[in-house]
Amino acid sequence: MLKRLEVKTTTRTQLVDITPHIKSLLRSENFSTGFIMVYTPHTTCGVTINENADPLVREDIIDTLNRLVPVDIGYGHAEGNADAHIKSSLIGSSENVFVESGTLVLGTWQGIFLVEFDGPRQRSVLIKMVTD
Ligand code: ZN
Repeated sequence: MLKRLEVKTTTRTQLVDITPHIKSLLRSENFSTGFIMVYTPHTTCGVTINENADPLVREDIIDTLNRLVPVDIGYGHAEGNADAHIKSSLIGSSENVFVESGTLVLGTWQGIFLVEFDGPRQRSVLIKMVTD
């Protein structure tokens, strides 16, 4: 079954740690072994896995993406958020994570993030649980 998380972002560009929400979803669904696909159906945000220990890593990711893809350098897309579309494609819309004995198989410092590039907005994250 497809599950949906609703995530409210609060600034234009932001990494939101959704790992705790996914863990509680696994518990409430009693999902034990297999993998999950975490997917966001939007064109100006993404999903990534990275460090959730030092918050400066999140800032570094955002700062570097902003240097690579500046907010406004005369893009063709007239909506004013062309940079957000490009960053979304660079980061990607989904991640897959193994689940064993009800636990996400993540490295010690890894978390799962919704990456907002055109907030603040209400975002959906879809979770598909796939059993072995
Ligand atoms: Zn647009």
